[in-house]
Amino acid sequence: KNIQIAIDGPAAAGKSTIAKLAAEDLGYTYIDTGAMYRAITYKVLKRHIDLENEEALTQLLFETTIELKPSSDGQLVILDDEDVSDEIRSNIVTSSVSIVASHAGLREEMVNRQLIMAKSGGVVMDGRDIGTHVLVDAELKVFMSASVDERAKRRQLDNERRGIDSHVDQLKKEIVERDKMDTERHASPLVQAKDAIYLDTTNLTIQEAAKYIIQLAKE
Ligand code: C5P
Repeated sequence: KNIQIAIDGPAAAGKSTIAKLAAEDLGYTYIDTGAMYRAITYKVLKRHIDLENEEALTQLLFETTIELKPSSDGQLVILDDEDVSDEIRSNIVTSSVSIVASHAGLREEMVNRQLIMAKSGGVVMDGRDIGTHVLVDAELKVFMSASVDERAKRRQLDNERRGIDSHVDQLKKEIVERDKMDTERHASPLVQAKDAIYLDTTNLTIQEAAKYIIQLAKE
């Protein structure tokens, strides 16, 4: 059977790594919605548009194509035919994305696109509002978290792998700040869906967490 799996949770909780693994095993499509918000943020920054200008940002999104392409090492993010997979992970994008993602009009268009992407077959989608606003009828919803220390440590390893300079203490601050913005925003804030299963990944390996989700999906 093909089902929809919604994975939400705070920053750097391991959502995308675990979601990708589970999707591979199940033969499902993986959709990283955070990458979509990051991609439009990258374009907004390049154009020097005011991050608070909801109308301009939403208009820009209407004129923008964002494509998620599966590849051997995960997923490529194509913004208007340009591969921005690495650029969207930069510190400047990370520290700006929550402002861009706070605008209701822009989110509405993102959700429309995500619904189209999720239309065919089994899907694992991760983000902040998937279980609450995007795939509200998903058969399986998981709210994934981990301690802030563990999340900062993981992001640090991730950055090392990507060749991005960072310090754990600074990452901790950035993660807490981003979670605060995502949780306190007016438009579809980060919150656990009532019918979501809570999964604390602090003491789990990526493989253990993925296995847990795969088992739930097969039930
Ligand atoms: O998942 P990732 O950390 O890449 O997401 C980057 C940012 O995009 C989040 O901090 C949040 O502000 C925004 N986002 C969102 N809704 C989603 C996915 C991401 O608001 N579904």
